[in-house]
Amino acid sequence: MRVTGADWERLGVEVERVAHFIGHRAYLKMHDGHCAALDVRTTADGAREFFCTVYERRPQVCRDLARGSPECEGELLAKAERTNGPQVKIKG
Ligand code: SF4
Repeated sequence: MRVTGADWERLGVEVERVAHFIGHRAYLKMHDGHCAALDVRTTADGAREFFCTVYERRPQVCRDLARGSPECEGELLAKAERTNGPQVKIKG
């Protein structure tokens, strides 16, 4: 996912952990098939929870995809298999 100059500035101290350059363009890094900023946790009841560790500083493209919107739900369904679990809770 592209990271603009404004996103790079907003990410601040977190930028080197979650973003990098490929050629002349910056992108979010990937880790285990998902964004490096995403923290995947398993609750005591076995449900998987997903936390954005840079939520307040997240890139604009992430801000444009409103939580709970049809587009968001579509992304969840399409990408649930990548984390091996259909049970999804999202927290910011
Ligand atoms: S909202 Fe956070 S975890 Fe999700 S893609 Fe954007 S930076 Fe990564």
